Formats: sequence, structure tokens, C-alpha cells
Amino acid sequence: MIILKLGGSVITKKDAEEPLINYNDLNRIAEEITSSSFDKLIIVHGAGSYGHPFAKKYEIGKKIRNEQDFKRKKLGFCITQSWVKKLNTIVCDSLREKGVLAVSIQPSSFIIAKNKRIYSCNLDLIKKYLDLGFVPVIYGDVVPDINEFIRICVLSGDQIIKYLGENLKPERVVLGSDVDGIYTKDPKKYEDAELMDTVTSLEDLNAEGSSNVDVTGGMNGKLLELLELAEMGIESEIINAGKKGLIKKALNHQNGIGTVIRKNKHNY
Ligand code: ADP
Repeated sequence: MIILKLGGSVITKKDAEEPLINYNDLNRIAEEITSSSFDKLIIVHGAGSYGHPFAKKYEIGKKIRNEQDFKRKKLGFCITQSWVKKLNTIVCDSLREKGVLAVSIQPSSFIIAKNKRIYSCNLDLIKKYLDLGFVPVIYGDVVPDINEFIRICVLSGDQIIKYLGENLKPERVVLGSDVDGIYTKDPKKYEDAELMDTVTSLEDLNAEGSSNVDVTGGMNGKLLELLELAEMGIESEIINAGKKGLIKKALNHQNGIGTVIRKNKHNY
């Protein structure tokens, strides 16, 4: 089994203020997936410009100030849920048109969080679809939260990756982003950022790159999830899905294309 993440930064125009799809990359990736050989595949995609602007505007996941504020946040929940669902439909359509038997799995219809972490989530349906030969496509969404101070929150695709990895024990976890992997600092901001081939712990990251190591924004959250997964013995790799051919290589079991996140770098 392979779990493949398609970053919101790749399939959408991430920095756009309105939801915009990056059709060139999405369709190319769908072609790469369909021409790869895999037995069981789960695709997880991020929300990019289909989710973040709304979740931010309506402060979903922030402490509820009063009933009026809760009502506004609930409206934001409905709006965000609707946009990420539209994105998921576009992703599933693109995959299916290229030949992938994609079925949509909506997190907000079966996942509940507690303090922004997955609390209740039954994977039987996903397992069933896999057994039937479908490719389940799940995504970053908004979900209810049992913490009464927040009541609703954002569930990132990266947290879903960690949960699926932990519970389904895939052979391979691949995350396609818009950069080549983890760098010593944000490569979009610093020309002298250096790509790391392996990351084994946050301490290791700091030690290797000295005080220059700086992982921020979405990449920081992603790395924390992946390091937790690595602690459980499940290795993952961040690759550049914006570069033609890399998704196909990764699905065909090639290693060392990006940055590998594993527990112990000597444990090959
Ligand atoms: P995705 O949408 O692909 O899941 P994000 O947009 O959340 O990913 O995170 C990827 C972004 O993280 C990159 O575009 C990059 O600008 C930023 N980033 C920040 N620090 C780093 C770092 N040290 N190494 C790599 N990328 C970094």
C-alpha cells in the first residue's frame, strides 16, 4: 500500500486570494499516477487556496468568544467545507478522466477531533474501497471538535497522512510538495538554502544545519507529523510534485528523490 499526498501548493495556486486550480500540474500528476504500478493506493490532498483563506477569515479552530462568534465560525465551516469538497471533486474528476478509479472520502462526514487531533475515525470504509480496487481520495477539511471551547477545527491533509500511516501501516508514504524536500531554510526565501536528504529528528535537524535550520509555515507542521510517524517506524519522503516524472518515480518505488524522514538514519 502506498499513501500519496498531493500538496495544496501543487494542485492549487496556493497564494491566490480566491480558489484557483493549477490544472497543468493536476492533470500531469493524474497521468503520472495512472501510468504507475501500484497495488493499493490512497491519495490525500491539501486544500491550498480552496481552504486556507476561508479557515483564516472565519478563525476556525480559534477559541469561541460568544454565541454570535460561534455562529459566524459555523458559517465559515460550511463555506470551507463546500470549497474543499469542490476541490476534491475536481481532483477526483481529473484522476478518473486519466484512468484512476478515484472515490471521494469526505473527512467532515466521519471524523471527529479532540483538541484539533483526530479522535474518532473509522477506517473500515477506506479499507473496503481498497479491497474493491478503488483509489480513495481524502483531503484537508473542517471537522467537529469535542473541545467545547473550539467546537470545530481544521483537519490538515498532513494530519490525515499521519493517522492513515499509523493505522494502515503502508509500505510507502510519499508527500508531493512544490519544493524538492526539506531545506536548511525556506528555499523560496533564501537562495543559499540547502536540501537535506534525510531528517531523523528535530534535534538532528538543528544539529546538522546549525543555527541556520529554519522550517516554517506548512512545512513545519508537515515535518512534525512525519517525525511522529517516523517514531512509529513508518518512513516517508517529501518530493517535488511540481517536477515532471517524480511522482511516477516515487510510486514505482524509487527512493532518494527528495528528503526522507526516518527514525534513524543508519537504519536502512
Ligand atoms: P503543501 O501545500 O505542498 O503541503 P506547504 O505549502 O504547506 O506544502 O509547505 C511547503 C512550503 O513550505 C514550501 O513552498 C516552502 O516555501 C515552505 N518552507 C518553509 N520552510 C521550509 C524548509 N526549511 N524547507 C522546505 N520548505 C520550506
